[in-house]
Amino acid sequence: MRLSRYFMPILKENPKEAEIVSHRLMLRTGMIRQQSQGIYSWLPLGKRVLDKVNKIIREEQNRSGAIELLMPTLQTAELWQESGRYDAYGKEMLRIKDRQDRPMLYGPTNEEMITDIFRSYVKSYKDLPLNLYHIQLKFRDEIRPRFGTMRSREFMMKDAYSFDLTQEGAVIAYNKMFTAYLRTFDRLGLRAIPMRADTGPIGGELSHEFIILADTGESEVFCHKDFVNFDIPGEDTNFDDAAGLKGIFDKWTSVYAATSEMHDEAAFNAIPEGERLSARGIEVGHIFYFGTKYSEPMGAKVQGPDGKEHAVHMGSYGIGPTRLVPAIIEASHDENGIIWPASVAPFDVVVINMKSGDQACDDACETVYAALSKAGKDVLLDDRDDRAGTKFATADLIGLPVQIIVGPRSIAGGEVEVKDRKTGARETMTVEAAIKRLA
Ligand code: ATP
Ligand code: MG
Ligand code: MG
Ligand code: MG
Repeated sequence: MRLSRYFMPILKENPKEAEIVSHRLMLRTGMIRQQSQGIYSWLPLGKRVLDKVNKIIREEQNRSGAIELLMPTLQTAELWQESGRYDAYGKEMLRIKDRQDRPMLYGPTNEEMITDIFRSYVKSYKDLPLNLYHIQLKFRDEIRPRFGTMRSREFMMKDAYSFDLTQEGAVIAYNKMFTAYLRTFDRLGLRAIPMRADTGPIGGELSHEFIILADTGESEVFCHKDFVNFDIPGEDTNFDDAAGLKGIFDKWTSVYAATSEMHDEAAFNAIPEGERLSARGIEVGHIFYFGTKYSEPMGAKVQGPDGKEHAVHMGSYGIGPTRLVPAIIEASHDENGIIWPASVAPFDVVVINMKSGDQACDDACETVYAALSKAGKDVLLDDRDDRAGTKFATADLIGLPVQIIVGPRSIAGGEVEVKDRKTGARETMTVEAAIKRLA
């Protein structure tokens, strides 16, 4: 992508309304635009990051055996009356009437709808286990939307729903998602800690929130320091091995971790003082096992091996992609801007032309741009007619992992500079060597 033809509306000034660094940087880099309170457009640069986050989420959901579909954002009130949540959900639910005066709502979550899909098709235990997910917009009329897309009213969620004949089966499904989540957050460059959590309006018995430690987080959390060093399950994890998955779950729940709602002061104080971590955190994912809470009232039943009808045991599993993007920035930035982990960077590399219009610089930039693009890299070429200093500042601000700097002096000797955004380390090398390094 040539920056001169791209749409990346960088702001010169720090936006006053932004209270936390991720919000400020997302506005400054032109990743998002607020359209009305708590409702955002994702501009091209932001959309690229969001797509990369969703790609990783999708790959790990698929790896664990979950199957993707897509449900609508608008739902009928009827479905929610069946589960009893239409009245219970309260003011967070945006209620709408269609032209026939039928009560509708913009879905804040999809347990009812997926249960309706399930009951319409699945009749036998032989078709279980089943886990269906989608990545879709949700609406919750948050009382205090803030921090940009961290807590917005319209936001994206990956929500998965598992169906099993028995509680034992549902626990295996839970452990699969638990493991998939550890892998997902790790690939996003984050250390997320699973914490025992309250089940809230989703209801149920077993629940973990996945929390990123950050000073700007809205949750108060307590955990053992050991979490920082726990191994992440590998790519070769066998999701059909129930015992192996239980081993992962047991390990990751073997030491204390809880949000303030579930906090047990005595258990926490039993940890030696130097190993206690009392911090703030951002909830980026949440998983629940809730048994037959929806299947029972909504009649989602299958025939078991005993020939009888059984209400299925369900779980639901959410991740917030539009919250993850700012969470990644909270975890990875410096005074000059964002530092994207390579896995979610909007482009892999920026080629900075220090002197657009200078023939040697232009030619070298085109050579590098063409070669890296051909090698399948996402390359941003800063070919704007602007001062070198402005281009350097932009490159640091938008935080792509690598910068290739092409200047008139070094290119006369056939050389360019390669800068690592994270460490700031610079290396001078030939154009060919730079291409080889990054391709
Ligand atoms: P919170 O405690 O922050 O209000 P929640 O517990 O209500 O979140 P869940 O119902 O557990 O949220 O939804 C699953 C995931 O969806 C959350 O872990 C979070 O990543 C994301 N999410 C929920 N609400 C929002 C929001 N208002 N803006 C952005 N992401 C959200
Ligand atoms: Mg909430
Ligand atoms: Mg919560
Ligand atoms: Mg939650």
